[in-house]
Amino acid sequence: MPEVSLVQCSNYQLDHLKDKIYTSFSNIGFDVKRFNRARVVVKPNLLMPAKNEKAIITHSEFFRAVVQIVKENNGTPVLVESPAIHSLERVIKKTAYAYVVDSEAVEVANPAITRALAYDGARKFKYIDISQAYFDADIILNLPKFKTHGITYITGAVKMLFGVIPGIEKSKMHLRAPAHDDFAEFLLDLYGAMTYGMTPEIPIIHIMDAICAQEGEGPGPSGKPKWLNAVLTGENGIAVDYVAAMIAGLDISKALTVVNGFQRNYGVSSSDEIRVIGDSIKALRVNDFEPATGSSIFSNMLRWPFNTPTFKNLFLDRPVPKEEKCTLCYQCQKICASGAISKSAGKNDIPEYDYKTCIRCYCCLEICPEAAIEKEKGMFQWMLGG
Ligand code: SF4
Ligand code: SF4
Repeated sequence: MPEVSLVQCSNYQLDHLKDKIYTSFSNIGFDVKRFNRARVVVKPNLLMPAKNEKAIITHSEFFRAVVQIVKENNGTPVLVESPAIHSLERVIKKTAYAYVVDSEAVEVANPAITRALAYDGARKFKYIDISQAYFDADIILNLPKFKTHGITYITGAVKMLFGVIPGIEKSKMHLRAPAHDDFAEFLLDLYGAMTYGMTPEIPIIHIMDAICAQEGEGPGPSGKPKWLNAVLTGENGIAVDYVAAMIAGLDISKALTVVNGFQRNYGVSSSDEIRVIGDSIKALRVNDFEPATGSSIFSNMLRWPFNTPTFKNLFLDRPVPKEEKCTLCYQCQKICASGAISKSAGKNDIPEYDYKTCIRCYCCLEICPEAAIEKEKGMFQWMLGG
């Protein structure tokens, strides 16, 4: 029976955090002595350069607390993560992680060196290139930030493993799995490969920063911070995500990586099997958590023969840059794997979108630092309320 530790934690004060994280390890029966002489890969969410207060990245003090626990138990923490478009070095430099990495003397691995991870149990993606650093680990600590997401509804322990794939290669995966269900299936293939496909198997513990989470149009600058006051820990990422969604009071049927994950039976096939240790879901549940704007009910039809420009324009939200907010940084163009964004002919004009080519992955919306890209409904969506 998968166990999830749920611990109330209402601030990022270092000693308080360490106390809560030690309690979390104890709750799930993880002996911190296992860190002794171990190479412990610590993977926070470093999507992009962002202030801790925006709740886009795992809080740097949360990361520091975990690093100190590893060191106190004679382990060697190694930071690995692959941001969306910037280098890991740049994101560290532009965030509060710079000070933590420096003061704690944390080794930073290069996420760009990759190796193929093969997993026979995968449904579609049997080989996925991931950063070599994960193969070199004795233990992996995944530190997801709990946020909303336009495609998968929530982003937590399962979705956060997307960051094991280097840089822009991540957005290319949307080209291979454009329908939202397909994308969730890809994430579950990756989760299965990381959990069961490493030889020898490498233990992964998910320690979720849901203290200040993100609601609304997450997981980037368009989302809003929302305090959930919780640290969730477990070896089963699907179970951890389920409990997080329950605290947020979200509609679990829309959380694709949880619902489809239950069907895979990766150590858990229903919510009845999950044992929560520590505080109760009921005690921490909030009633006013704002989900991301729902995906169009037609998003799962983004496959041949429906993925035509006409279908997309009629039935799916399209990303639209807003002139009043756009600073012409063109990061949206860098992340667009389908080449749908180009520079306007005019010198000071906002990016031009080719909606025939756009696959509606919303990566541009996710990383726009100015939250300048908004979703606009297709013509029939207005009529059908889709
Ligand atoms: S829409 Fe956003 S990402 Fe694109 S150029 Fe404007 S500010 Fe930059
Ligand atoms: S324009 Fe935006 S939503 Fe469309 S394919 Fe490119 S990154 Fe994805």
